[in-house]
Amino acid sequence: MRKPLMAGNWKMNKTVTEAVSVVKVLKSSIFDVTDVEVLICPAFTALYVVNSEVNGSNINIGAQNLFWEPKGAFTGEISSVMLKDIGCSYVLIGHSERRQYFNETDKSVNKKTKAALVAGLIPVICIGETFKEKEQSITFEAVEKQIKEGLVGLTPQQATIIVIAYEPVWAIGTGKIATPDQTQKLHIFIRKVYSQMYGYGVSQKIRILYGGSVNPTNVSDFMRQPDIDGCLAGGASLEVESFIKLVKYSK
Ligand code: PEP
Repeated sequence: MRKPLMAGNWKMNKTVTEAVSVVKVLKSSIFDVTDVEVLICPAFTALYVVNSEVNGSNINIGAQNLFWEPKGAFTGEISSVMLKDIGCSYVLIGHSERRQYFNETDKSVNKKTKAALVAGLIPVICIGETFKEKEQSITFEAVEKQIKEGLVGLTPQQATIIVIAYEPVWAIGTGKIATPDQTQKLHIFIRKVYSQMYGYGVSQKIRILYGGSVNPTNVSDFMRQPDIDGCLAGGASLEVESFIKLVKYSK
């Protein structure tokens, strides 16, 4: 049985003060939620205080990125060891904005994933086709390549820990959504690729999230699909009331 995961990616938003005030409201509004796991991914600057705020609650904290080396002369970077040290349990890896603006590749995703796993963080690996790939009808090929190259060298045990976030790039922050039906097909396909790589058992255990303009109105349609195990929301996670509605989606 896969426990749903509702995750919010705050991207480069919210000062420390803003982050803390959102988290206070979130904490008191969802304290009784036990059937959904909740994750928020604030900016690096807010991680430490937000973690102190949610300590002992049902809210998990994740970073939006990391560097693969544990320490050293890498000015401006943050390691998995540092994230674990301040209480992160998750980390987003290979978000499409990082691939688009910061030249992240499946190779760097692979290095970051391994570093996260070694430190005891759960990687949320973001994959998904671009608009061009969708237009060229190569969605399945694009997604398969991202999984195979991003996960190269992982053991089945490590592969079981990972969360995959399927996020069609054309649906992120655009208001355009993939239909729940289309998304379900992609999620089945991702499990099929996983099954070829790590066996059927592992493919049934991993959680696969959908991301791309999820909001309180459409969340339940996605969550009703049998292979969608949660959502990764950007815009809809910034307003606390709308994120609460995602967490408390109607089944
Ligand atoms: C995201 O940032 O991963 C995302 C899905 O953003 P949005 O919900 O705003 O489309």
